[in-house]
Amino acid sequence: MSEAIEIVEADITQLDVDAIVNAANNSLLGGGGVDGAIHRSAGPELVAECRTLGGCATGEAKITAGYRLKARHVIHTVGPIWSGGGAGEPALLESCYVGSLKLAKAHGLSSIAFPSISTGAYGYPLAPATRIAIAAALAHLEGNGCVGRIVFACFGRQAEATYRAVLTEMRAMLSEANPKLVE
Ligand code: ADP
Repeated sequence: MSEAIEIVEADITQLDVDAIVNAANNSLLGGGGVDGAIHRSAGPELVAECRTLGGCATGEAKITAGYRLKARHVIHTVGPIWSGGGAGEPALLESCYVGSLKLAKAHGLSSIAFPSISTGAYGYPLAPATRIAIAAALAHLEGNGCVGRIVFACFGRQAEATYRAVLTEMRAMLSEANPKLVE
């Protein structure tokens, strides 16, 4: 089950997967952070395709080609801007992960890489954001015909350590709840 989750310290633009996920903004026309890095690596064809999409609502996801990236596709999703946690941010962030995984599955993709959506300029605290990301991945991997390989591309050692700690914590919780799952 959770063997299909990989945690790597990496620049997501360099990963050879079916799709990388972009933490975009509502315009889908590019921005800073991981969004800027993805557009720079993919080349101007990416923003040209994005212009045809009419933007993207927070919590939703849209797919394009990957152009000059190694990744065949880019899934653009818009995370919530953190404003204390009482404005629906957790559900919106979960929807980014669930929606991206559903879109990848609908396109028959077998590998996907996520950045840590909303935890940069949008200010979502890293540990709770990571719990949402890993819970969504674990739930997806239990379904039929799922995207079999889910990579979390961590930007820096600190982020990587947080992802590893959260995965360990969630596996322990799962094994307590159902020892047979992790035999
Ligand atoms: P948001 O606006 O959703 O917060 P950011 O791009 O500002 O998006 O940050 C999201 C996360 O992506 C941050 O944790 C940041 O460190 C990380 N990040 C930035 N550049 C890259 C990259 N090239 N590869 C992977 N992660 C990256």
